[in-house]
Amino acid sequence: MSHRVSLLGAADYRRLTVEHAMAALLQPLGGIAAFVTPGQKVLLKPNMLAGKEPERAVTTHPEIVFAVIRQVQAAGGIVSVGDSPGVGKAHSVAEKCGIMAVIKETGATFAPFAESVPVHIRSGTFHQLEIAQDILDADVIINLPKLKTHQMMGLTCAVKNLFGAIVGMRKPQLHLQAGTDKAFFALMLLELAERVAPALTIVDAITAMEGDGPGGGDPVHLGAILAGRSPIAVDTVATELVGMHLPQVWTQKLARDTGRPLTDLSEIELLGPPPATLRPPSFRPSKSTDVNFGLPGFLQRPLKNALTARPRPNHQRCIRCGLCVEHCPPQAMTIVEQRLKIDYARCIRCFCCQELCPHQALETQQGLLLKLHQLLR
Ligand code: SF4
Ligand code: SF4
Repeated sequence: MSHRVSLLGAADYRRLTVEHAMAALLQPLGGIAAFVTPGQKVLLKPNMLAGKEPERAVTTHPEIVFAVIRQVQAAGGIVSVGDSPGVGKAHSVAEKCGIMAVIKETGATFAPFAESVPVHIRSGTFHQLEIAQDILDADVIINLPKLKTHQMMGLTCAVKNLFGAIVGMRKPQLHLQAGTDKAFFALMLLELAERVAPALTIVDAITAMEGDGPGGGDPVHLGAILAGRSPIAVDTVATELVGMHLPQVWTQKLARDTGRPLTDLSEIELLGPPPATLRPPSFRPSKSTDVNFGLPGFLQRPLKNALTARPRPNHQRCIRCGLCVEHCPPQAMTIVEQRLKIDYARCIRCFCCQELCPHQALETQQGLLLKLHQLLR
């Protein structure tokens, strides 16, 4: 049943701990056999945003990937593991984040997304999107997100992780087409998730990320894993787990605004402890959550700079490698006289630059009105 979400405490990433926890997590959902039958091609889609060590909490931990590969192999599935990283070559990202080692150890196949084909999308945004061929070729998709804050969307978890189905440079192109419209982008993510239609989502929230996620935040221990069929239902539980509220998480907000079910805990059959009992004492959301003070759209636009957070170069850290300049969707970044500059009139606040910078050289500068608003609260 799509409205069931299983939640379990898991203390750390020791192999036996994770393997036992994975079996116990899936058992109330019918076990892995409820999702995989012998001979099926099963694609695991972890978060492989960038080539960072597992303890940085940028990518899905390799022990989670290992445990799921073993589960699927035991059910007779033929496993491949794939993604299209935000930055860097898929092979080197997989090596650095430890996922390649478990692929080799288990005899699974690595599937770096390269080819994509246009597919029709239930339209509220784009009529079609180009999706990785490997996704379309699989019999079963298992979505393996890392729970992290996200400067643009609030959180990245089950729904947002499937943006990796878009290959390479097409991701910034979609950001550019969506512009500053977070609602449009969030709706596109929902439509993409519905088209990819993972059979199962398993979230790595043993160590999550708080602060300036998804690339430059801080690891935070949650000690939890969760799983379910519906990405929206899983995200509802994940949102509750970290104590965020629905309007802060754009994909959840758009799911509710468009009448999609399972955005409320009361609609979900929760198999496990109440999420609040696993919540850390504090959890720091990203800074970019914006507010509109009830202003009409024509006033929000001119006040964008004051209302919303924006990336700000840290010139001590920036080594002027040009990576962010190359990937900035509206080409709002330049390096002039050995200094990184951002044209804020063009910047669409997608935070791709912050996500991709290998040196955490882009900070978040909050809008003045937003700061004032938070102070007054
Ligand atoms: S901000 Fe980061 S990615 Fe951009 S030029 Fe500086 S070091 Fe490179
Ligand atoms: S400067 Fe950064 S946040 Fe602004 S549009 Fe470019 S990549 Fe996006």
